[in-house]
Amino acid sequence: MKILKFGGTSVGSAQRMKDVAKLITAEKHTIVVLSAMSGTTNSLVEISDYLYKKNPDGANEIINKLAITYYKHADELYGAAEYKQRAKELISHHFDYIRTFTKDLFTLFEERVVLAQGELISTGLMNLYLNESGVKSVLLPALDYMRTDKNAEPDPVYIKEKLSALLAENKEADLYITQGYICRNAYGEIDNLQRGGSDYTASLIGAAVHAGEIQIWTDIDGMHNNDPRYVENTSPVRQLHFEEAAELAYFGAKILHPTCILPAKLNNIPVRLLNTIQPDALGTLISNETEKGKIKAVAAKDNITAIKIKSGRMLLATGFLRKVFEIFENYQTPIDMVTTSEVGVSCTIDSRKRLDEIVDDLKKYGTVTVDEDLVIICVVGDLEWDNVGFEASIVYALKDIPVRMISYGGSDYNVSLLVKSSDKKRALQALSRHLFN
Ligand code: ADP
Ligand code: ASP
Ligand code: MG
Repeated sequence: MKILKFGGTSVGSAQRMKDVAKLITAEKHTIVVLSAMSGTTNSLVEISDYLYKKNPDGANEIINKLAITYYKHADELYGAAEYKQRAKELISHHFDYIRTFTKDLFTLFEERVVLAQGELISTGLMNLYLNESGVKSVLLPALDYMRTDKNAEPDPVYIKEKLSALLAENKEADLYITQGYICRNAYGEIDNLQRGGSDYTASLIGAAVHAGEIQIWTDIDGMHNNDPRYVENTSPVRQLHFEEAAELAYFGAKILHPTCILPAKLNNIPVRLLNTIQPDALGTLISNETEKGKIKAVAAKDNITAIKIKSGRMLLATGFLRKVFEIFENYQTPIDMVTTSEVGVSCTIDSRKRLDEIVDDLKKYGTVTVDEDLVIICVVGDLEWDNVGFEASIVYALKDIPVRMISYGGSDYNVSLLVKSSDKKRALQALSRHLFN
């Protein structure tokens, strides 16, 4: 069985939906995971922001605009008047429901319900379109099987049990359509797997049904060797190791959600990144294979803060690093990069929520300096330490750019460098020029 996930742009218009329908009906017995149509989740976030600020007029304006675009999609998507009518009823049902939240108390609980409507609409519309086209597709409601536990982590046992039961009840279907992103939490409330989380849904389903392959279909022909939003002439990487893909996703390659690699890796399920606009393009295959000695790609993670603790006490002392790390742990703030010297340690964090408290506590151990507005540039590939020369090429590429930290040796797959946000584009471009051209 294959899992095919289509992101927002892939289902972003009536024509795109028709293209996706062609792709998914080419094979039988696939599970198709859909995101909300592009822009929808952003609009639902905006609606929620207005409702938090007790501005129902602002919310209603966006609700009405969004509903109109959906009615237009329905007019274009369906042939028969009966199906146009059924689609419009489906759309009205969801938007009327969203409108009910403009009248009362609005909390995180209501927000999650509002955010879930995008995927519920896109899957409903696709299923209806397939039915009109004579395809025996069945809608698998994600809210009936996708669930997180008390630590907000997916519950694989529950997911497997419920999903298997749903599939067994619907054996006669040609294909299954389901919602990405949305789930229920440990208390049974509607929740989600975080923005961009439809990729995670696909790999959790893949793991639950022991899929032969997980395909992530998007608007580009696979993982590129640098961020196409900042660098021209990037090219697709044909093959990545799970670890390389995980590093790239975590360090900013938006094409993949960072959480989606682990379930695939643990179950050794290959992940293929493909392009809906150019379905014949080879894309990227992510698996357990490594291409020896090759630098694969560069990515960047924004909004990084570096904290340096300088202390005479570190000299020959044991337990110093533990005390420092404990402070970050106490404030539930994960550290991304670490570098140490005999007299100090530098760490980076991507959340500044607890920064003041962390700095106050760290002052007990030495002089603390904070640098804000930084970016981690991450170079990924088969970078085992006995492959000589790659560190030199990377550092040479950045010879004109101030570098705040360099980290290598935590894994065989990544070298990370910390630079100013204002140097991000220049650094990405320089690395592409020196490493790939
Ligand atoms: P979807 O809505 O299908 O999930 P996303 O917008 O989340 O799509 O991801 C696809 C986008 O990721 C591409 O359009 C591209 O701009 C961006 N992107 C960033 N870094 C990379 C990279 N290294 N390779 C490919 N795409 C990347
Ligand atoms: N629709 C959700 C979002 O925009 C989930 C996803 O697209 O993966 O974040
Ligand atoms: Mg995405």
